[in-house]
Amino acid sequence: MLAEIIVDVPLMQTDKPYSYRIPSQWEGMVQIGVRVHVPFGKGNRLIQGIIVGLLDEPASEDTKDIAEILDFRPVLTTEQLWLAEQLRKTVFSYKISLLKAMLPNLLNSSYDKVLRPKVSLEKAEQESLFGGREEIRFSDLDVEHQARVMRLAQAGKIEVDYVAMDKKHIKREKWYRVYQDKLADFDISKRAKKRQELKDLLLQQAEPAPLASLRKNYSKEILDFFEEQGLIEVWEEEVSRSQAYFDKVEASQALTLNPEQAIAVEQIVSTVGQESQTYLLQGVTGSGKTEVYLQVIERVLAQGKTAIMLVPEISLTPQVTNRFIARFGQQVAILHSGLSDGEKYDEWRKIEQGQAQVVVGARSAVFAPLKNLGVIIIDEEHEATYKQDSNPRYHAREVAKLRADYNQAVLVLGSATPSLETRARASRGLYGLLRLNQRANPLAKIPEVQVVDFRDYIGQQEAGNFTPILLDKIREKLEKKEQVVLMLNRRGYSSFVMCRDCGTVDQCPNCDISLTLHMDSRSMNCHYCGFQKAIPQICPNCQSRSIRYYGTGTQKAYDELQELLPEARILRMDVDTTRKKGAHEGLLDRFGRGEADILLGTQMIAKGLDFPNVTLVGVLNADTALNLPDFRSSERTFQLLTQVAGRAGRADKEGEVLIQTYNPNHYAIAFAKNQDYEGFYQYEMNIRRNLGYPPYYFTVGLTLSHKSEDFVVQKAFEVVSFLRENLSDSIRILGPTPKPIARTHNLYHYQIILKYRKEENLEAVLNHILDKTQEKEMKDLRMVIDNEPQNMM
Ligand code: ADP
Ligand code: ZN
Ligand code: ZN
Repeated sequence: MLAEIIVDVPLMQTDKPYSYRIPSQWEGMVQIGVRVHVPFGKGNRLIQGIIVGLLDEPASEDTKDIAEILDFRPVLTTEQLWLAEQLRKTVFSYKISLLKAMLPNLLNSSYDKVLRPKVSLEKAEQESLFGGREEIRFSDLDVEHQARVMRLAQAGKIEVDYVAMDKKHIKREKWYRVYQDKLADFDISKRAKKRQELKDLLLQQAEPAPLASLRKNYSKEILDFFEEQGLIEVWEEEVSRSQAYFDKVEASQALTLNPEQAIAVEQIVSTVGQESQTYLLQGVTGSGKTEVYLQVIERVLAQGKTAIMLVPEISLTPQVTNRFIARFGQQVAILHSGLSDGEKYDEWRKIEQGQAQVVVGARSAVFAPLKNLGVIIIDEEHEATYKQDSNPRYHAREVAKLRADYNQAVLVLGSATPSLETRARASRGLYGLLRLNQRANPLAKIPEVQVVDFRDYIGQQEAGNFTPILLDKIREKLEKKEQVVLMLNRRGYSSFVMCRDCGTVDQCPNCDISLTLHMDSRSMNCHYCGFQKAIPQICPNCQSRSIRYYGTGTQKAYDELQELLPEARILRMDVDTTRKKGAHEGLLDRFGRGEADILLGTQMIAKGLDFPNVTLVGVLNADTALNLPDFRSSERTFQLLTQVAGRAGRADKEGEVLIQTYNPNHYAIAFAKNQDYEGFYQYEMNIRRNLGYPPYYFTVGLTLSHKSEDFVVQKAFEVVSFLRENLSDSIRILGPTPKPIARTHNLYHYQIILKYRKEENLEAVLNHILDKTQEKEMKDLRMVIDNEPQNMM
């Protein structure tokens, strides 16, 4: 028997399966989707691999043996292996990278296994394998015993845990139970005060409890004494590291749907399990999309199926996750980047073992190993975070579509401001279009939006970030004891240090970008390569002392506002104040409880917030994202402004929105002012058609990077010639041009953009290029091929 194995070496040559012999004692026990260690290369170094196929063929002379089996049951499902196969065609990265993206991090590093007997194990068997030991290491066993253990584990008679660097993956906790009758009769000598105290305490303890609570006040010696005397029983139990998160959420009931919501739910669930269908749920902010998601999931669960709910940057919106936990409780698993590796592992196992039927998570949760999927929902589907911008560069929407097809499941794309790609498909009838045009709360109205021309106030302002008209509005709301949300748009913008005498801006030595001032750490940081240095006191160029801090960072805006409105209670929310785990949620909770009047933050405040007392939303600078060299910059600006405006007036109090801008006549701002998605869509589609951009054309971005600029330019031109020779005449090739940020990490970046409608050979040609860049004479040339790039910077 042979196993086909994808090894963990991300190179083109190793992107296909290698055959290894399954040693005879493991025959019949090895399954597809299991990880193994295999010897690889000339030195026969042991590396991790994944079995993707089994062949009933004789091994040839030089076939190597599998060295070690890492899993007794598959950690990847057949569907996941199929997904990797499909994605390989459009995501230009290696299969092993895709497979690893589907596993929790803890499983991507090598480890040993710890085995524990379960109650179901027969005494004789337990004795011969474990002796008197509580647990044994797999690697300590001989081959014959290993095979026995595998059989027992597969029969569920042995519990398996993994170990990496001597740390076990599963967290276990000691619990105790009191034998009340025995304890009551037990005599403790009068002088043993502490023991007497513990006895009195335990007599009150009827239920089992964690031993840790006793350990605080009582020594191990005393606790051991009670155990040895048979007064308490102590045992170990597996604990979920994420449980605490679930415990604090209160349960909620389904709401009565309004007619628009009811139609949407019925339509969506009507095809579940019969055919794969995609719907765009386009609903204005506050229209109750989330309630639709919740009830769709409820109906899908009732059919015995499972659901994936994707939200952008979930760690930023605890309010949203909590709504799912409140409705579905322990059936939910959460997966997002804010969790520790251990927490992620616990959540993954809940899914894998079938305990969780609903997965709520960020981008990578789209790979969750749920079986029998009924629905995948992508909220705020237009968000760029659904595209991963490092390898493997997949888009969660594409993965979701594949999975929906595989499972005859329904895919729901929800947004108030759908991406042009999605909306165009809905308009052409490829997706079903469902609309929610009213706010769900009948008293809540779509807020009035006022645009303030910053140019009218130049020189008259009390402070750089605030026009008098915005300040008056804020004061008015504070008097009424209502709350205000202020957004500072910082995309492509930062706080920097400039010399007033010679104009020198302090720059990163490795990257073509100015260093950002961080007040909290009192340092200058590069946001690309992580370079850090002290804040300069004199100009590095002319040695002048007139070196000043510029830009409108949140810190500066906060200081200005506090000075203007000393009595206001302001919370600042940006990367600096939310770095610590839970800080983001903490700030939102405080704002929700009314402990502050103003929430001032970056775009992280734009999403998902639902506070009834917020009646004013102010955008301090709507322009900064407009002039970026990216064809989606208008779309992004429109979406962001519409989203943030949607935070106002979500309950019975009327809301107002005020946008400060230098470009009041720009169409993105004008359409956002009128909350006119349709108008924006038509206008922007026209531009895209004229310029040949998505959704009319497909795009691929190629980025070449190298420390020598001459070399990278030469190679980029070679790539362009190769593309011209091998692709059709109709393809448009832009570049090579330096990237907008031309150098980072001491590497020069050049990009080539391809625009096309139909190109038969594209996949083969691009794979060939990827292959070529790994040859020796390419001298560490880095090549990234990005299908439908979301970020042109
Ligand atoms: P969206 O996700 O579309 O922005 P939400 O789902 O957050 O909107 O709903 C906005 C508000 O309306 C929430 O406070 C929600 O509880 C409430 N809501 C939603 N549906 C209903 C309904 N059918 N009846 C009453 N209130 C509702
Ligand atoms: Zn200077
Ligand atoms: Zn740098």
